[in-house]
Amino acid sequence: MASGELLFRESSLRAADDETREGLLNGNNGITASTSSCSVITATAVNGGSNSELNNREENISKKKLFTWDEIPEWQRDNHYIRKGYVRETLSFELCLDSLSYFHNESVNIYTHLIPGFSVLLSLGFFLIAGKHFIPAYASTTFLDYFFIDLFLFGLSCCLSLSAGFHCFKCHSDPILRLGNKFDYLGIVTLIVTSMVGIIYYSYIDHPAIAYFFASITFILGFICSIISIKEKFSHPDFRAIRAFMFIIFGLSGVFPVLYGIHTFGWDESVKRSSLNYLIMEGALYITGALLYAFRIPEKFNPGKYDFIGHSHQIFHLFVISAAYCHWHQLIIFLQLFINKFLSKRPSFVNKYNS
Ligand SMILES: [Zn+2]
Repeated sequence: MASGELLFRESSLRAADDETREGLLNGNNGITASTSSCSVITATAVNGGSNSELNNREENISKKKLFTWDEIPEWQRDNHYIRKGYVRETLSFELCLDSLSYFHNESVNIYTHLIPGFSVLLSLGFFLIAGKHFIPAYASTTFLDYFFIDLFLFGLSCCLSLSAGFHCFKCHSDPILRLGNKFDYLGIVTLIVTSMVGIIYYSYIDHPAIAYFFASITFILGFICSIISIKEKFSHPDFRAIRAFMFIIFGLSGVFPVLYGIHTFGWDESVKRSSLNYLIMEGALYITGALLYAFRIPEKFNPGKYDFIGHSHQIFHLFVISAAYCHWHQLIIFLQLFINKFLSKRPSFVNKYNS
């Protein structure tokens, strides 16, 4: 078959597929919309191909769920090192949800955050409704102890659920992709704020004025980063590195309470107060994950190899989960530390047990 004819037939089939999809989305089962393309295909078949061959190929294309970088619209193109496995624009929330049932290049991104996100959210809801808490209850445990740990878990579940939702519905359309991207970043800001205020609260439990000061800075920086997340221009791929950099700065702002603690309490006590080993590990995980994401490592060294498993965004997701796990341990260590050492400095403890 001449290459020109082959190309013509390919484009006819592609057009037929596009119009059939359009017809399906418009609710007319594709019959009306695809009529003109069918006549083109039939004419082509008479001129050289077998009907059954073309029918099979047309059926295969209409069943096709995954597309390559070259087959997806411009607005869906974000990382050109990911060459295949795309769910092409669905214009349907139902079809987006259906994509959960098969494996594509966003599946790992979705499930690495969907499963832990909903698990934490459901557990938190269950515990709150049942009047229970994730942390052990001691005689001196206050409402605020519960509050800051539950707040962190709430921030974590928000971040993971919004992220999973973004990755699931990003194939819907350009406006939904942009909206989801904003919520994805708002979720990250929520996680950073709810993580940091907990550390500040426990580190300065006997110095509430300092705790309020650093917590206020955290909320202000979180607010600024939320604005950056919502601004349309920052959602463009061109701003990927700048956006990642700003979030790293926001995350690093958590270093200041630690430095002030070293200055105020000395090295040994401040290391215990801020559980520094876990804090460094947590920061390193977030920063490494964000840098891999920003520089698209490892897929930039071998485009197409990590399309389904192993590309930078998936690694970033796993690093976020690992960092959150570190933070959880950190909070529990804080609580135990206060039981053993710092409780006597706590006003509520003094009032309750020493009066
Ligand atoms: Zn993500």
